[in-house]
Amino acid sequence: MVNAFLLVALAATASARSDTLSGLCSPAREGVAVDLTGTSYRPEQSYAPAETVAEVDARQSMLLLADGRFLLRTSSLYPGDIEFRFRTVGDRTGESTIDELGWREGDVLQRDDAATSARDLAELRMLVPALLACDALERGAPRTGVDDGALAFKDGAGREVTLTFGADGELAGARLGETSYRYENWHVREGQRLPGRIVVLRGSRETTRWTRIHARPARPGDEALLSLPEGYRAADPAGPLRATTLGEGAYRIDGAPSGYHTGFVVGERGVMLFDAPVDVEEARQVRARIEAIAGRPVTHVVISHVHGDHVAGLPAYRDAEVLVGAGGAAALRRQLDESLPSRVREVDTGEEVDLGGRRVRILPLASAHSPTMLVGFDARSGTLFQGDLFYIPERGAVPAGFATGRELIALIDAASLPVHAIVGVHGRTGTPRDLHDAVARIANPADRGCVGEQMTRPDRCAPGAQSNTTR
Ligand SMILES: [Zn+2]
Repeated sequence: MVNAFLLVALAATASARSDTLSGLCSPAREGVAVDLTGTSYRPEQSYAPAETVAEVDARQSMLLLADGRFLLRTSSLYPGDIEFRFRTVGDRTGESTIDELGWREGDVLQRDDAATSARDLAELRMLVPALLACDALERGAPRTGVDDGALAFKDGAGREVTLTFGADGELAGARLGETSYRYENWHVREGQRLPGRIVVLRGSRETTRWTRIHARPARPGDEALLSLPEGYRAADPAGPLRATTLGEGAYRIDGAPSGYHTGFVVGERGVMLFDAPVDVEEARQVRARIEAIAGRPVTHVVISHVHGDHVAGLPAYRDAEVLVGAGGAAALRRQLDESLPSRVREVDTGEEVDLGGRRVRILPLASAHSPTMLVGFDARSGTLFQGDLFYIPERGAVPAGFATGRELIALIDAASLPVHAIVGVHGRTGTPRDLHDAVARIANPADRGCVGEQMTRPDRCAPGAQSNTTR
């Protein structure tokens, strides 16, 4: 009797589950257009140095067609209203990505192979329960050896995806490798059954929380969205690791594996460098290069601000003095612990450091990107060293600036610095004219180029209305 009852209950659950799957899948058979808005959590990128994780305003628009063609647009807003906005178009042969704002990657077209494209597409599908439902109907099977009602299938890249269901047969969650997804607050909007929230976790750490989710079935004409603007081409080779002269005794490192640049100034007694990206191995290579050129040890490392990518190489400079903005030392200790160099000094007012026959000015700046900013100025060469206040790509037009560019201009003006060149940790060396050019074109940070509403707001964001992608 008990067994029979159990079988009936299981059959009822299985039937509720298959109703759920067919209901979700049927409008999605030709593909789906999706808009997502939410928050992503980025370790060691926060505004306040005491906070370990930044809450980044994240948007995403996707078109995922049944034949494997797809579009992904993303927009993320970091502290100081610094926006990353990328677009990827892919199919079964590979995918191509561009930087829509052109500040980080300029006019580079990043091409990735079929395997990468298949993995990326499979991961985008995890954000669309309707598509997972179609996959489960087509090739889902009970998880081997486990009688918990979960279904498993192989994703487009051959990896196992597991779906789990609530007591009511609703799709509750999914897992792909280390990453798990929770689909919550199900409701019906314009005939679409959708979760009101998707929580993404890597292990136990929440990485993204999507809280506004709109979707519609793909329709004829959507293919027009599967395109990239003209004028992008493959990156130039980065060349070997080397020091490029900026003026007498001032240099920057080019050709580092990460593409980050470390600026440095050589005095009679030692070398001061600006930032220690992005990991210890790279910093060791960079240090060896610098000391070979300079013929002197690195004696000072100025940290532009305490975001993880600017400080992770510090253990390669354990014998140097580290200069960091006021309030930044605790953030360095938190990130590097025992491997942080022992001499760390917080700089809260402007000062000059004498390297022997050469003085470098260090200027603090409470920026909207980070309140612990330090900017360096080497008067002899007229070089200004800064991190994340002004961006110019390795190649491509001078991009629109961010509000942080205004802060940099105000600092240069207030200190009457005779600047010739502006070196950033990212991108090529710029001029004051480039900086003014960029700042004249700062966009309203509320303009996100329709990312996060492109698919479901055709009135505002249709392909024809898409001229709004440059800032
Ligand atoms: Zn930063």
